[in-house]
Amino acid sequence: MVNQRRLSFSFTAVRCSGVTQPISFGASIMSPGFLPRDTDEYYMVMRQVDSLNCWEEGKVLLSRLCHRCHLVKPLRAKHCHIVNRCVAGFDHYCPFIYNNVGYRNRPYFVGFLATMCLNSLSGINLCWNWFHVMGRSIFIGTGFLFLCIIAVISAIMTSMCVYMAAVNLTTTECLKPAKCTYLLNHQGKFFNPFDRGIILNIMEFFNVIKPLTENGPKRAQMTSV
Ligand SMILES: [Zn+2]
Repeated sequence: MVNQRRLSFSFTAVRCSGVTQPISFGASIMSPGFLPRDTDEYYMVMRQVDSLNCWEEGKVLLSRLCHRCHLVKPLRAKHCHIVNRCVAGFDHYCPFIYNNVGYRNRPYFVGFLATMCLNSLSGINLCWNWFHVMGRSIFIGTGFLFLCIIAVISAIMTSMCVYMAAVNLTTTECLKPAKCTYLLNHQGKFFNPFDRGIILNIMEFFNVIKPLTENGPKRAQMTSV
């Protein structure tokens, strides 16, 4: 009976980690949406620097030029100084997957968080049952506490990701909305022009439908990042 229960717990843990690892590996190795360097558009814009009309008219703002990657950043793109690349739909850099999170790998990232939470809960269950089978142990107690912390953190992060997916905002935009001028209306108040409703936002998050183009968002004059 004891051996059977141990075997069952072990299979549960292996099954959960077997899901978490490929997903985290996918989030780690795939491009988050790296933008091509040395674009013709950048050099064309730089040749027009002497003609200040385009700056004055607000068609191209200096904040949208990346002089490291030599490109004109699309809306919501950001240069990551850790990997020294511009990322489309930049969310944040995650040290746990050693990669940026952008519009391409964000479904994998939230999958990684969710399965890590489930994995931790499975481990907690395993420890709890080991308490009853094997008695008190400092090793089981330490593992139990550690897994509780991981479960709480990953649950909070998963919830935050789901919320941001539902309202179509990135972590950067949530944390620093004032720095994203395209999220401000004419009165300088927060306004999310990318919000298409929860269902479409979730579909966009999982790359089922394409993001809105720069002409698509609700407000026309969104020219700075
Ligand atoms: Zn860049």
